[in-house]
Amino acid sequence: MGKSSKDKRDAYYRLAKEQGWRARSAFKLLQLDEEFDLFANVTRVVDLCAAPGSWSQVLSRVLIKGEKFGRSAWQDRDAKFRQQMLGLFGPQVPASQLEPVELKKSPVELNPSKDVKIVAIDLQPISPLPGIVTLRADITHPATVPLLLKALDAEYDAKSNSQQAAHPVDLVLSDGAPDVTGLHDLDIYVQSQLLFAALNLALCVLKPGGKFVAKIFRGKNVDVLYAQLKLFFEKVHVAKPRSSRASSVEAFIVCLNFQPPKGFSASLEEPLGVGFRLSNMMEQNLKSLPLTGDTILQNSETGAWDSTPISIQSADEHGITEVQLEDIRAKNQGDIRWIAPFIACGDLSAFDSDASYRLPADHVSLDPVQPPTAPPYKRAIEMRKAFGGAYGKTGRQ
Ligand code: SAM
Repeated sequence: MGKSSKDKRDAYYRLAKEQGWRARSAFKLLQLDEEFDLFANVTRVVDLCAAPGSWSQVLSRVLIKGEKFGRSAWQDRDAKFRQQMLGLFGPQVPASQLEPVELKKSPVELNPSKDVKIVAIDLQPISPLPGIVTLRADITHPATVPLLLKALDAEYDAKSNSQQAAHPVDLVLSDGAPDVTGLHDLDIYVQSQLLFAALNLALCVLKPGGKFVAKIFRGKNVDVLYAQLKLFFEKVHVAKPRSSRASSVEAFIVCLNFQPPKGFSASLEEPLGVGFRLSNMMEQNLKSLPLTGDTILQNSETGAWDSTPISIQSADEHGITEVQLEDIRAKNQGDIRWIAPFIACGDLSAFDSDASYRLPADHVSLDPVQPPTAPPYKRAIEMRKAFGGAYGKTGRQ
């Protein structure tokens, strides 16, 4: 997060620097927690694609230091601070009436915990954070699983390459994003590969009842993904925090209450998202749906599966017979869809990430909290310098 004219338009970007977060993404996690109470009863967490580390900072401050955020904290503790920030960005309070405020000091009573384990992984190095184990690794690479399990102090049966470890993790987060190319379909495809890599890791380490939160790009087939996730989690939501720009296709899937299907064991040999394992599981799941009683059979206009629960008294009443089920399967060719509930989260009076806010005349742009450790553009800048600047040694303007 560097200094730039973004300061002028993005309240969260500026607020992150004011509050000491390494990236504006911190607010996304805080707003997701506000909605889903993600950190309740959580002590062991894996933070995938974690650099520069603002989500890990949130984890460290909430779980290790015991700081409180979320809606109640905003209302009680930070009402004054919030009012001041609104004054800083908006017309509500003249800057001259603002009282000085210690931005980084938390006035809440802390309740530090010693039993917390947080492991953060990224391709990029992550500058150290108190209480967090950081790993530099590729989450799409199979060798990352044993690294992670070792970091979690879990047993790993290297010989059979199976995850015999106790499933020790309460929450797996993934904010993974590839370098966006601007080619919409390609970006969505690469993002979905990252998501499956994160899911495979999560399935190896999550304990039953655990939670999985991951960034997605909403493309046209995202409801196939929701249906797949429903195999493993009781509840699947898609959430858009207020700090995530409305103009962006980014959203987060929030999967609660991990319930692996009977007989399922995560395997590196057969990762989900590659081959047919997942679609076979979907088929099996579909076959096991009862044809009578409370079920979710719905194929009204699109031929797709819908989340709307329909209580059917008998198969005949809706004309759904085993034969027609086969037809539906054939028609969808395994593309079973499910529409996840969409939830916008973050206080509606919080800053709008797409809005511009007026800055006071004496506004000073702050330095980034954590300069990038190894930004991908570093080499490009070095090469440009060596070449004699943006226009090269030709002097072309
Ligand atoms: N949650 C982070 C935070 O709060 O600071 C921001 C994450 S940033 C949006 C996306 C990260 O995904 C980048 O740091 C990138 O290096 C990482 N990433 C992308 N592909 C990855 C991969 N295959 N393995 C590990 N990390 C990856």
